[in-house]
Amino acid sequence: MGVSLSNFLILNNISSIFDIIKPFDISEIYGFIIIILLLIFSGLISGAEIAFFSLNHSFLKKIENSENLSDKMILSLIEKPKHLLAIILISNNFINVAIVLISAWLSNVLFDFSSFPALGFFVEVIFITSIMLLFGEIMPKIYARQKSEPFARLMATPLSILGKIFKPLVHVLVVSTNIIDKSMLKKKASLTMSELSEIVEIANANNNKSELEEAKILKSITTFGETDVKEIMKARVDVFAVNISTPTEQLIELIKEQGYSRIPIFKENYDGVEGVLYIKDLLSHLNDKLFHWQDLIRQAFFVPENKKINDLLQEFKKKKIHLAIVVDEYGGTSGIVTLEDILEEIVGEISDEFDIKEDSLSYKKIDEKTWVFDAKTSINDLCKIINIDAYYFDKIKGESDSIAGLILELKGEFPKINDIIKYNNIEFEVLMMDNRRIKRIKLKML
Ligand code: ATP
Repeated sequence: MGVSLSNFLILNNISSIFDIIKPFDISEIYGFIIIILLLIFSGLISGAEIAFFSLNHSFLKKIENSENLSDKMILSLIEKPKHLLAIILISNNFINVAIVLISAWLSNVLFDFSSFPALGFFVEVIFITSIMLLFGEIMPKIYARQKSEPFARLMATPLSILGKIFKPLVHVLVVSTNIIDKSMLKKKASLTMSELSEIVEIANANNNKSELEEAKILKSITTFGETDVKEIMKARVDVFAVNISTPTEQLIELIKEQGYSRIPIFKENYDGVEGVLYIKDLLSHLNDKLFHWQDLIRQAFFVPENKKINDLLQEFKKKKIHLAIVVDEYGGTSGIVTLEDILEEIVGEISDEFDIKEDSLSYKKIDEKTWVFDAKTSINDLCKIINIDAYYFDKIKGESDSIAGLILELKGEFPKINDIIKYNNIEFEVLMMDNRRIKRIKLKML
């Protein structure tokens, strides 16, 4: 007849779906109203979290001296961020649990899901959770981010009252998070300098010139603790030192010529350093014909070649001195190192008023791949200037610290002018020699 089998089944199903709805009375309507109110409270409290934590410094400064009660409450709440977060989390959790319990009760008294358990799951879990997320979390948080100041003012009093109600619970939560925080902090400290160096490198891969400059300084700080004094010292052949038997007039002439503020004083030869003469100590005696300049010599501070420069910096700070004499394993003088040499490792070349001008620097860049170097330039500086790894020559440099020493190691004998020495993709050419000293080198990246 008129009703086919499939239509009959559909009608039958629809009627049984309607069967799951039970008759309801006034108490369920109150239940609905309570859920809506709780959702509004949940939204206000979730929004308050975003509103309070996105208040900017200038707003807080502005309300610092305000007489308004809400402003005062905002300041006292934001002063203890952990407490504020605990108040918000505890209140929100109580409200959410209440919403879940009331909606479970409502669903029980309004529906009978015994023949449709999947629909029961959908209504009781997915539908309720979505409503709570949408109206209790997402929407209020989006609104509060844009209107953080009025939102914070609106919620300051309710949150202060909730803070008083939940005081013991807030206290327990804050104490327990403090314990977790402390143990996390201990773990964080295990980040090594090389990891930090990699982070700096990755973070600055695409940055502009000024940021790259900052990254370079940060990177130098991370490798700072690995650098030995030997790598940055001024070799003894380049140190201006004076024999202790030098007459006063001659000493003053020498000092005028060289212009250094601190001068190592030796007996017989460079290995016998007696102390350091500070030029400022000399100044008050310049007109005194009888004075004995040797009385002004201060005690020298000796450091081994393999001392790490971060340790030396600490010692310079502690002893309030600027210069140390570097000694090798046999006690002989290898060179000197000053505070400026250490600082240059972090910030790059420092030019003070007495430093040589750029055109007389210890190197000159010819083009993107070619440089001319003063052969006494340190290998450490060479690597920085041509932008290669600081350990590039470690396998072959032996005991040498300067380019001249490196050339001798590579060649195995004294080179002649225009000799070409190759190492990997780097070509050195000897440009200038003076007696048995290499003076100038051309370097080409192949
Ligand atoms: P200041 O700047 O305190 O007057 P200064 O200019 O004499 O001192 P520093 O600024 O300490 O010396 O160092 C600048 C550079 O000069 C460093 O590379 C350091 O190694 C070098 N230097 C300092 N004293 C001597 C010296 N007596 N002989 C050779 N080089 C020195």
